[in-house]
Amino acid sequence: MGFLFFLLDEIFKLNLKFLPKTSNLLISLDFIMDRNLDTFDVCIIGGSIAGNYLCYLLSKTNLKILVIEEHEKIGLPLQCAGIISQKLKKIIDLPSKIILNRVKIAKIVAPSGKFIKISGDERPYIIDRIALDCLFFEKVKDNKNIQYSLGEKFKSFKYIKSNHQKFIFIETSMRIIKSRMLIGCDGPLSSVAKTLGIHNRNLYAVQIRIKHQFNENEALMFFNQRWKELFGWIVPEGNFIYRIGMACSKNLAKNFRVFLNSLNIKKGSKIDQQGGLIPYGLMNNLAFENVLLLGDSACQVKATTGGGIIMLLTAAKYAANCVKKCFKHNKFSRSIIKKYYETPCKSTIGKELKIHYLIRILLEKFTDNDFEKILQIIKTSKIENLISLYGDMDFPKSLIFKLIKNPLVIPFLVKFTLKNPIIFIQLLKILTK
Ligand SMILES: Cc1cc2nc3c(=O)[nH]c(=O)nc-3n(C[C@H](O)[C@H](O)[C@H](O)COP(=O)(O)OP(=O)(O)OC[C@H]3O[C@@H](n4cnc5c(N)ncnc54)[C@H](O)[C@@H]3O)c2cc1C
Repeated sequence: MGFLFFLLDEIFKLNLKFLPKTSNLLISLDFIMDRNLDTFDVCIIGGSIAGNYLCYLLSKTNLKILVIEEHEKIGLPLQCAGIISQKLKKIIDLPSKIILNRVKIAKIVAPSGKFIKISGDERPYIIDRIALDCLFFEKVKDNKNIQYSLGEKFKSFKYIKSNHQKFIFIETSMRIIKSRMLIGCDGPLSSVAKTLGIHNRNLYAVQIRIKHQFNENEALMFFNQRWKELFGWIVPEGNFIYRIGMACSKNLAKNFRVFLNSLNIKKGSKIDQQGGLIPYGLMNNLAFENVLLLGDSACQVKATTGGGIIMLLTAAKYAANCVKKCFKHNKFSRSIIKKYYETPCKSTIGKELKIHYLIRILLEKFTDNDFEKILQIIKTSKIENLISLYGDMDFPKSLIFKLIKNPLVIPFLVKFTLKNPIIFIQLLKILTK
């Protein structure tokens, strides 16, 4: 298959260099292409939440769409803690069966064990993630213009020009596909992104589900220098089942053991276990010739919490609009994809993702003592109320602007940055990107 892909590529290069467009070779290659290659308008790689939702958004067009998913079943393997802000209901039509629980309180625990509790209008959902992935697949699977190919793996793609038009030739584990557009919804290790020279930086994550008797109304976040790139979590699924997990950049198994021991939980008491990767950093470039990236492949993930679902659902709406515009104008250049997809994403979720990353950079430098101090400040001032009022799990900008004006926070931040001058350079770099 790889050889065929290579051969096609070479023939087309030769053809374009040396032969007039009306030559017999071109006609015969078009003949081969049109009859032997599966041809689609849009090929989406990855049949998880990003790929399925985008496919659903495009399902009312007449576009011929193929979704390629390497696993045999949609939604599996599960890789999510399933905690999502109530914005989810504003973005999608959310069936109540997908909501397993809601939490009223977020408990933030410092390395010393001291904590603050935040409660407010934000009452996040704990969702059945497998059901969410299946939701949009079920809605589109019988559409005559849409094909799902499960158990097929994307390998790479090449651009081929034919009759003044640029096409994407996609090599998979089974065949070669011709498509006008390619959308990379293939997660943190995206092969589409890699083909474009983009490599995500990822955190390792692990999670177990256990039966226990914690508070069903509380989601807990445990901060610690050992797992400074994110935190340890307890998320109540309902029916006294809890999702306990952690993500960090190294020593995950050891850190997770330490974390479970601190909670007095034996790993043997687990119902099941999940693992996965969480992209870490700023949002990638999203627009390329005939290609765009969406979801974890594009690092559309909050660096404060590792949550990606609200961001990618928001981005998917811009992506769907962009795809429609490309076909309407019969233009698939990087600039048109940038105009209708990357630019709107950057000016909305991109700005918020930057703030999440800035907060993460600060948190990574926090010593145990800094955690103590900031919790103390939050407790002794009215900041808890500020967080409840302005705190938004997904869009923290307004909260941050309120916080940095607070007279107790300013001296803390000044001292902290003087202690960590490198932060200035890091923050400047992020802000000017
Ligand atoms: C442990 C953990 C906990 C999390 N908890 C939360 C949370 O509580 N809240 C939240 O909002 N987010 C959470 N996230 C993040 C969230 O799960 C992701 O942001 C989201 O799943 C991204 O969706 P996606 O469709 O972009 O990518 P993915 O869900 O990673 O899906 C990518 C799909 O592409 C397929 N694929 C990959 N390569 C290929 C290939 N070469 N060919 C064909 N198919 C391919 C994969 O099989 C997969 O189905 C968590 C992540 C982890 C790992």
